[in-house]
Amino acid sequence: TLTDSALETAYDLECSNIHKSFGSVRAVDDVSFTIPKGSFFSILGPSGCGKTTLMRMIAGFEDPTSGDIQIKGKSVLNTPPNKRNVKMVFQHLALFPMMNVYENIAYGLRCVGTDKAEIDRKVKDVLDRIALPDVANREIHQLSGGQKQRIAIARCMVMDPDVLLLDEPLGALDLKLREAMKIELKLLQHQFNTTFIYITHDQSEALVMSDHVAIMNEGRFEQIGRPEDLYHNPQTSFVAGFVGDSNRWAGRVVAEDASGFRLETDAGLVMTSVRAVGQRISAGQNVSIFVRPEFIKARKTSTPSADGGENSLQGRVDSVLFNGANSRVLVRGPVGELIEADVVVTGGADDLRAGDDVTLEWSAAQTMCFAA
Ligand code: ATP
Repeated sequence: TLTDSALETAYDLECSNIHKSFGSVRAVDDVSFTIPKGSFFSILGPSGCGKTTLMRMIAGFEDPTSGDIQIKGKSVLNTPPNKRNVKMVFQHLALFPMMNVYENIAYGLRCVGTDKAEIDRKVKDVLDRIALPDVANREIHQLSGGQKQRIAIARCMVMDPDVLLLDEPLGALDLKLREAMKIELKLLQHQFNTTFIYITHDQSEALVMSDHVAIMNEGRFEQIGRPEDLYHNPQTSFVAGFVGDSNRWAGRVVAEDASGFRLETDAGLVMTSVRAVGQRISAGQNVSIFVRPEFIKARKTSTPSADGGENSLQGRVDSVLFNGANSRVLVRGPVGELIEADVVVTGGADDLRAGDDVTLEWSAAQTMCFAA
């Protein structure tokens, strides 16, 4: 006979063809995905794309218009929120200000009738896991922003949920603390080995923390992948534009041969690409062209080329934006457009300065074009 573990699904969460309409607004439009056990999954998209609505359906606060949601292999559509083994951390955290840390964490356990000794053990254990063993008797107002964040997570995790939903929980923190909390959240997820679903419109949060990210746009998932896949192999122009920085041009395909596409931007820049993504592309087609700044080599025109690239153009440095190890240079190109390139700053004579004549070079393989 099959054991329980053999029957268990490999997924903590499975959403199939989820739709949600509010009147004529399609907030979520045919979304399907699975989340493997114990992973960090982010839903990343601009404001209004449907992230919160999707999250609320998973939590049970909202019913899908159609589609199915399964947690650990069982449909939860007819299960009310408090009976789903799902917990949610909100941006405002919703800690009880009149209770101390211990009482905040113990609250859910008391509601389900856990006995006192067991509550004591569980609260102590979860405080150890979040590396705050000594704050049990503190009042909420005596905690720092980062500590409150961890207590909000501990209060959920003490209930041992199948899935923890986090709705932009870092939104209210200042920049420095957000940076620290990104790493902290990732470590906490590892520590608990529970599936976290994180929704955000901040790409750097999603890329840093997640095992997998879904890019959401106008109610649909455009692409699901590991952060590095989304960055290096975007499948739609929306993903290419939303994840990472890019130079972006509107243009068209002027010719196609065995080595790739000859492209011309509307302003008249000519370049080649071997990276046509998605839809089939042919001569005459309007395209969006993307080249990431870090793939463009910028050198003073007076210095000889090392290996060059299939694409090359002349320009003049307009400004240099210092950013530690790298700088971004804004180069005024031959038809007056600004092109961004990243350069390593050595502090030597070959560092670029405003007014320098430069040659920009990049490979055809780094030139992505999508049917417009
Ligand atoms: P944000 O990041 O700004 O919170 P979001 O990606 O979470 O945005 P949702 O809040 O899910 O987006 O909203 C998706 C769409 O559904 C929007 O057009 C929104 O106006 C609409 N919507 C959401 N909830 C309702 C509701 N209860 N009634 C009517 N329309 C709604």
